Amino acid sequence: MAQQQDDKLKKIIAHAKEYGFIFPSSEIYDGLGAVYDYGQNGVELKNNIKEYWWKSMVYLNENIVGIDSAIFMHPKVWKASGHVDAFNDPLIDNKDSKKRYRADQLIENLMSKIEEKIEKEVNKGRKRFGNDFDEEKFIATNPNVQRHKKKLADIYNRYVKAMQDNDLDELYNIIVDFGIADPETGSKNWTSVRQFNLMFQTQFGSVADDSSRVYLRPETAQGIFVNFLNVMKTSRMRLPFGIAQIGKAFRNEIVARQFVFRMREFEQMEMQFFIRPGTEIEWFEYWKNYRLRWHKNMGLGDEKYRIHEHEKLAHYANAAVDIEFHFPMGFKEIEGIHSRTDFDLSQHEKFSGKKLQFFDHELGKSYVPYVVETSIGLDRTVLAILSASYHEEDVSEKGQTETRIVLSMPPALAPIKAAIFPLVRKDGLPDVARKIHKMLRTRFNVMYEEKDSIGKRYRRQDAIGTPYCITVDFQTLDDNTVTVRDRDTMEQIRVPIERLPQMIEEKISMAQFLEQLDV
Ligand code: ATP
Repeated sequence: MAQQQDDKLKKIIAHAKEYGFIFPSSEIYDGLGAVYDYGQNGVELKNNIKEYWWKSMVYLNENIVGIDSAIFMHPKVWKASGHVDAFNDPLIDNKDSKKRYRADQLIENLMSKIEEKIEKEVNKGRKRFGNDFDEEKFIATNPNVQRHKKKLADIYNRYVKAMQDNDLDELYNIIVDFGIADPETGSKNWTSVRQFNLMFQTQFGSVADDSSRVYLRPETAQGIFVNFLNVMKTSRMRLPFGIAQIGKAFRNEIVARQFVFRMREFEQMEMQFFIRPGTEIEWFEYWKNYRLRWHKNMGLGDEKYRIHEHEKLAHYANAAVDIEFHFPMGFKEIEGIHSRTDFDLSQHEKFSGKKLQFFDHELGKSYVPYVVETSIGLDRTVLAILSASYHEEDVSEKGQTETRIVLSMPPALAPIKAAIFPLVRKDGLPDVARKIHKMLRTRFNVMYEEKDSIGKRYRRQDAIGTPYCITVDFQTLDDNTVTVRDRDTMEQIRVPIERLPQMIEEKISMAQFLEQLDV
């Protein structure tokens, strides 16, 4: 299972590189750990996802507006937010392999493995008993399942308490007591667990002393909080209202070995929704459901998502869930929904000395609003789309074996919407194809290609997820029709040239994509 997952991730990484989606940063210098660059197709995919998110949050909600705040912020922001003192991960080193791990992740991985074992036992039972299988009874009585469950509960209870109490010694003890080994080497020779702050620091201005230390923001949210008053005043919005932002964030992650899932420089799409205290659970449920619908609307498969309740609530939260996606490495967080209470604004009131309150006419009083946050990783969304839409299909014909790799991603998000080919590079076909390209390029991202055989051109477009391939052939010169090939069905139909804009628009329409969500 783990090997299969590894292979799938490796395939995605290789494909993303070969087809211009994602390259290791500074690759000619052997790369920089957990930093990646987006290539010609990756940047288009990323921009389309941003458009989908931005429009669904800002345009579809009349009480949400967007901002774009700076990456550098006053250092006191990070004191107030708690990041200077508490944005830590528990780190542990293996003395033999010299590899560094997050202690919490080692323990969570062990718990996932035990869960898998339980599932395996249940599946065995299901096979053995067929139609008579009573899952509940099986779980309650099977000795193997009971043993695994007891172990899981033991670990879970100790782990949750240790995380809540920030008890690093206990995290170490759990690792030792349950025999957790270095996943890469099997060694159990561990150092103690230490806290590690994830913020990058740099110097501001020309004088290098402590007072000029600034941080690269580890989240975009604080840029929203410090602009709460500015936006509320200038937009004349009243509670409840939201502020959305897309931007870079930086974290000096301890373990960064999972491609764009865990990067040191990444992009977040966050929205902070300001509300009257006491309504937070209602809004938390609302945004959880809306965001889950946003994900499922992409059509990557509803079964690929699940909701995970937090074991340890962050210092600012009174309710929190992760939306998890089934990545090649298993179910992992793609988005967090957090009810942050009035923690952030109150902290900024305290540290800045400015009032960050809303006057509620209905209640006749001022208060610091509560906040429900939705926070999704753009790069994790790219990885989700790439891995869910990557398919190898057997297209063998007449004794000739052939597979095609197709990225069957939502057409609205595809980097290139249509590719235009002349069947051959002569007899005036390229001229007609170029005219069609010119007609379409002001509306869509289209490409013209005449190299190699038509078959090879189709394969290249399939591999980057282009929904339509348009071919100009000799019949075109007679009747102004072209063949249009559909990426998913590979069917070809003849279409009059003048119908192309409408046909493409219907297929790739972001508006339709948003309408499905706007119900
Ligand atoms: P994790 O537990 O995986 O480290 P987190 O709970 O720290 O994630 P948040 O602080 O809630 O993450 O950030 C919101 C979102 O930002 C995450 O759901 C994820 O999609 C994205 N994100 C966080 N850290 C990274 C990273 N290092 N690389 C890429 N995306 C990230």
